[in-house]
Amino acid sequence: MKTIGLLGGMSWESTIEYYRLLNETVKAELGGLHSAKILMYSVDFEELVELKHQDDWIKIGQILAAAAAQLEGAGADCLLIATNTMHKVAEAIALSTTIPLIHIADATADAIKQKGIQRVGLLGTRFTMEESFYKDRLIYQHGLAVQVPTHEERDFIHDVIYDELCLGNVSERSRDRFRESIASLVDSGVEAVILGCTEIGLLINAKDSSVPVFDTTTIHAQAAARWAIAQ
Ligand code: GLU
Repeated sequence: MKTIGLLGGMSWESTIEYYRLLNETVKAELGGLHSAKILMYSVDFEELVELKHQDDWIKIGQILAAAAAQLEGAGADCLLIATNTMHKVAEAIALSTTIPLIHIADATADAIKQKGIQRVGLLGTRFTMEESFYKDRLIYQHGLAVQVPTHEERDFIHDVIYDELCLGNVSERSRDRFRESIASLVDSGVEAVILGCTEIGLLINAKDSSVPVFDTTTIHAQAAARWAIAQ
């Protein structure tokens, strides 16, 4: 089994889920006392969020690229960026190492296509819902049709992610609003909804949606664990 290099702490609330899911998947696949081989670099998220406010994505890329290089140096065989949003600098991170990067959008799109689904709704941070680094990959590389919530809903979802979920706060009021956004996406014709932020699974699950949900945390962790086992 290969060693997974996990770039975490963005936020640590969801990195805990990665740790659990990686180990659960290896245990389910191999049985007994098998567990995942993991090296983790967990950042101080506040530092990176401040750089986001300054729109300094170059510095963010440099910090995460240096962390990724350390993971490779320590013996990681692949790299997992445990957040959707930070895939904005995935290219910079990938350039700093020679090991494969398991991209969260690719793993998610593969899971969606396996179910024969083509039209999806996307929930995540404003970066993920509005910018090309994520949506374009789903659309042009994977042939999916992607629908995002309204401007007002996107603002609300983004704020809940950073002001509540990344701090470990789960509120009924926010859950209700997320359910409403999902229902509107379903009304607009989507066949499934991507939980495109690694903390949304703390708030929303399959029961909150009338169409299937694809939780990027679960899909990403399972893809990495299976990759590590298959090598
Ligand atoms: N974990 C979140 C995501 O999956 C947001 C935190 C971040 O800015 O990285 O997008």
